[in-house]
Amino acid sequence: MMMLTRKMIEIRGLLQTVGQSDQLTLPSIVVIGSQSSGKSSVLEAIVGHEFLPKGTNMVTRRPIELTLVNTPDIHSEYGEFPALKMGKITDFSQIQRTLTDLNLAVPASECVTDDPIQLRIYSPNVPDLSLIDLPGYIQVVGRDQPMELKHKINELCEKYIKAPNVILAISAADVDLANSTALRASRRVDPRGERTIGVITKMDLVDPERGASLLNDQKYALRLGYVGVVCRVPNAPSPKLFNRGNENIINAIARNENAYFGSHPEFSPDSHLDVGTQNLRKKLMHVLEQTMAASLKTTSEAISRELAEATYEYKVQYNERPISAESYLAESLDTFKHSFRGFSEQFGRAQVRELLKHELDQQVLNVLAQRYWNRPFDDLSTPLPETDPLSDLPKAAPENEIWKIKLDSSSAALTKLGVGRLATSVVASALQAQIDRLISNSRFSAHPFARQAITEASTSILRDLSYDISDELEICIKPYKYRIEVDDHEWTRGRDNVTHVLKDELKVCEGAAKKLEEQMGGKKKVKDVMAFIDRVRSGQVVLEGDGVGGAGGFSAALLQKGREAVFLRDRVDVLKMRLVAVKSKQCANKKNKYYCPEVFLDAVADKLTTTADLFLDAELLSKFYYLFPRELDSRLGRSLSHQEVERFAREDPKIRRHLDVVRRKELLEHVLKEMESLRQLEAREKRYSSGG
Ligand code: GDP
Repeated sequence: MMMLTRKMIEIRGLLQTVGQSDQLTLPSIVVIGSQSSGKSSVLEAIVGHEFLPKGTNMVTRRPIELTLVNTPDIHSEYGEFPALKMGKITDFSQIQRTLTDLNLAVPASECVTDDPIQLRIYSPNVPDLSLIDLPGYIQVVGRDQPMELKHKINELCEKYIKAPNVILAISAADVDLANSTALRASRRVDPRGERTIGVITKMDLVDPERGASLLNDQKYALRLGYVGVVCRVPNAPSPKLFNRGNENIINAIARNENAYFGSHPEFSPDSHLDVGTQNLRKKLMHVLEQTMAASLKTTSEAISRELAEATYEYKVQYNERPISAESYLAESLDTFKHSFRGFSEQFGRAQVRELLKHELDQQVLNVLAQRYWNRPFDDLSTPLPETDPLSDLPKAAPENEIWKIKLDSSSAALTKLGVGRLATSVVASALQAQIDRLISNSRFSAHPFARQAITEASTSILRDLSYDISDELEICIKPYKYRIEVDDHEWTRGRDNVTHVLKDELKVCEGAAKKLEEQMGGKKKVKDVMAFIDRVRSGQVVLEGDGVGGAGGFSAALLQKGREAVFLRDRVDVLKMRLVAVKSKQCANKKNKYYCPEVFLDAVADKLTTTADLFLDAELLSKFYYLFPRELDSRLGRSLSHQEVERFAREDPKIRRHLDVVRRKELLEHVLKEMESLRQLEAREKRYSSGG
């Protein structure tokens, strides 16, 4: 018989994880009693340990679901709070402290909560039992207890004392049974007294005659009867005796009860009265087993219905597609790696080259602007030079040192720019941007945790690689810092390319000028402001101060915009002029490179690009393409615990529902199978006991 209860308690635990449904549970014994009725003492006598919260002001605020597991072969007893993951607790005073803390954690405003505390106790000295300790009924509301507390406790108890649970109604012998809150509550839900066990505590406080009559109560007759107990641990001769194990306490109580009940003939075996904690335990075991067995069928049916529902949902919503957190992660990772492979096949040397050339084109424009096209545009107070340096450019002659120095220093400005660092970081950020794009287009976009793991994988690889690669690339381009030879073919290509670059730049400047014109309020306004600025620059007008507060009837803001307009107009002029020059016959020949710095610098940029793209393709791209998928595996694969994978998969609400359905279905199938074998076991036992 023992096996049966044990198994049913296990199943009860499993069913708790399936979810809250009144029908999806096996019965338990619910302990009710008013404050000070001796409820804690009875529970502690059954467990053999003091473990329940005590104290004058200690009202139990949460139900305690107490599962006792008989474990004959363990040396030390221990308790476990499955939800808290604290491990085995062998010190029962720690269990008591934990329960106190959990109680106090319920805010006073809430009074009580129906969220139960689960506690399992494993011991060779406890029977297999499932008990629920409820907050004690309050008789008289104390000054510091809200009236609401009384109602809430009543409500909570009401919820738990429903059928098929067994009610353990505790009443003290020294209080009139008609006033017992526990019995009154029980009578409301179990008027025929079919599933209530009455416990009369403190039998030692009334005379035996009265005690015996209480146990024979006919006013509220209980089919399962009344049990009389004396649960107070007697004063021990040596307190140490009780610290060695609960068997001592259990024995001490038993000895005490035997002495008391044995000394009064009212309780002799002939009386057929049920007395003593030992009998109470036996009764509880027996009744729980009977009740559980009786509800096996209905619970099985409820589970079958629930399972049918889950199976239907699985079929209709998820097409019977199996899933686990692990398989979901593996699949998502594969898809992501596949898209990464697709990207890596498209992003190669040619794409790197394009990126780099564009970047260097901009650098060429900067150098040209600084060294050739520079006119003091920005400063209103600086007069224009006598001769425009740009107008000298077409006359630039190789014999004149100044043109040679200008071109040499310009190309040095390019080669010494730090191309190694610049090119590496341009390509690395492009790769990072691509990874971000791939993530956004993948399933991982709904998973903050994976998103971060992938981003970190790529940034860390790129950071590590970039460090050495910038230096090595810098060494590769070193020769160009000393000498640059451009052949005819390269010259022609440079001339072609820079023509495009200049045209694009021209478009950008014209576009910006147009926008400025709109902001300033039209062509005419711009013209007036620019004319004024020109007069200042040519010295025809002398500004007072530096024009900060406005001048010539124009506001400071307008003057500032005017300066930008002048700058853009001049830049447009220069670009047009240089486009004509680059297209001219002179610039067709590389011998005239001093006239045509644009072409020469473009050719230099092209050489730098060729070196860099070759190197970055070999070093950065291919290494990144090799390392990244492996890094993904290590960050999102083996190194993750089951909990982490689970947390990951559940981040996506769709997947969470899918996983829940699958889990629920599996769990219900498992429970149902266990229930089936239990019913067979039960049937066999019945046959066995009836057959003798
Ligand atoms: P609870 O508030 O219902 O949990 O009641 P307790 O178990 O804390 O008991 C209330 C008081 O009654 C305590 O002081 C116990 O020592 C005392 N008590 C409990 N059971 C007995 C008993 O069988 N006999 C006597 N004399 N006192 C008891």
